[in-house]
Amino acid sequence: MTRTPALFVGHGSPMNTLEDNRFTRSWREFGQSLERPRAILAISAHWYINATAVTSMSRPRVIHDFYGFPQELAEFDYPVEGSPEVARRVAEVVDPVWVGLDDETWGIDHGTWSVLAHMFPDADVPVVQLAIDASKPLDYHLDLGARLSSLRDEGVLILGSGNVVHNLRAIAWRSPDQGFDWAERFDRDAHSVMTSHPDQLGELVASDDFRLAVPTPDHFLPLAYLAGLAAHDSSTVTTLVEGCTMGSLSMSAYVVS
Ligand code: ZN
Repeated sequence: MTRTPALFVGHGSPMNTLEDNRFTRSWREFGQSLERPRAILAISAHWYINATAVTSMSRPRVIHDFYGFPQELAEFDYPVEGSPEVARRVAEVVDPVWVGLDDETWGIDHGTWSVLAHMFPDADVPVVQLAIDASKPLDYHLDLGARLSSLRDEGVLILGSGNVVHNLRAIAWRSPDQGFDWAERFDRDAHSVMTSHPDQLGELVASDDFRLAVPTPDHFLPLAYLAGLAAHDSSTVTTLVEGCTMGSLSMSAYVVS
């Protein structure tokens, strides 16, 4: 049986849900290139809590965890099913790491649906979200990513959604097509680690640019799941799309195949 590829995506602004640009087109093409997965396990920067949990409801609600954007986005619907069965499978494969089953708190947030709106516009592949445990160190997330490996043999698409560089305080709204030097440099360093030795993702923490590129860990950590998975599976990591936008956001995306 073929192994389902896994993907890290830089999701950027929620506006990408409605836009057609080189990043969103790459997500769309990736979705079209795939054999239809059985389910998606999404690790979104926007479910960042002090616990390790998965959504286990059969009808996850669509969460609009932002404000100040057009009404069309505030009302955007992605009516996808969940999968209690895949949620239970996640808990089994990561054992003895404990994962809570959340059947009422969370749902599908924009880190997930802004990307899936392009990748699977018909919302016809069930989605389970995995929370990022903010209380744990980087190694925990790398290890947990590695533990998800067998899900790839069961037709589950693992999707990490964050941004390699994500500094909202430094955003330059008028520079859609470029990043600051430090952002471009950190993005290149991340590319080099991901494509040659993803198990050493921690190298990036020592970079002079780390504090500017990753002022908080939430958007960076989804990458750790894909790095851990790639290292565990000795997978090839390729670039789906790369580049920075608005100065301080990297939109780079990586395929683990
Ligand atoms: Zn975000």
